[in-house]
Amino acid sequence: MKLVFFGPPGSGKGTQAKLLAKELNILHLSTGDILRDKLSEGDSLSKKLKEVMASGNLVSDDILNQIIADKLMSKECINGYILDGYPRTVLQSDFFLSFVKSNNLNLDVIFNFRINFKLVEERIILRSKQEQRSDDNIDVIKTRLDKYNQETYPVSQFFSENFSQNFFTIDASQEVSKIQKELINIIKKGQK
Ligand code: AMP
Repeated sequence: MKLVFFGPPGSGKGTQAKLLAKELNILHLSTGDILRDKLSEGDSLSKKLKEVMASGNLVSDDILNQIIADKLMSKECINGYILDGYPRTVLQSDFFLSFVKSNNLNLDVIFNFRINFKLVEERIILRSKQEQRSDDNIDVIKTRLDKYNQETYPVSQFFSENFSQNFFTIDASQEVSKIQKELINIIKKGQK
């Protein structure tokens, strides 16, 4: 089972991806988590990454594409995966789709988490207190939401038009358990 999750930061897609990956016994492939793991390495790349991520800007497409190409071909993805936080730009999307095509990795379902940005701001402020992420504060969230609108929203639109049979928009303001049930129901029903 191969899934892609779209949605702005704070839409709860990471929480849902974690739960669903466990349920389906597939890999939760969060590029944000992979990058955060790299920050502890302390080398010059990690210092650069820290700066970019703390400001709410996006890390370079080349770095992300390389990470994803390595992961998708690894044993960890043998049962499938949930992509959470990638592709986030048109260049990443182009790379990903040609990679998928040339390796016959057809996508099964794409979920698009839709949520009001005011609610996102409230959630992120709450999360900043719980998880102490350096990019979870009100100054940075504006940049992250702007990046989503400028770079990622067009990618999700492209997927909705080109994979309309497998593309499902989810009301992300609902309770965690309700959303999870909705995702599982859609997957069980198969394609439209
Ligand atoms: P996330 O946990 O998905 O919100 O990601 C946290 C931060 O990691 C983002 O604000 C970006 O700086 C960086 N990041 C994660 N995924 C990507 C991506 N696909 N492309 C560029 N930057 C990314």
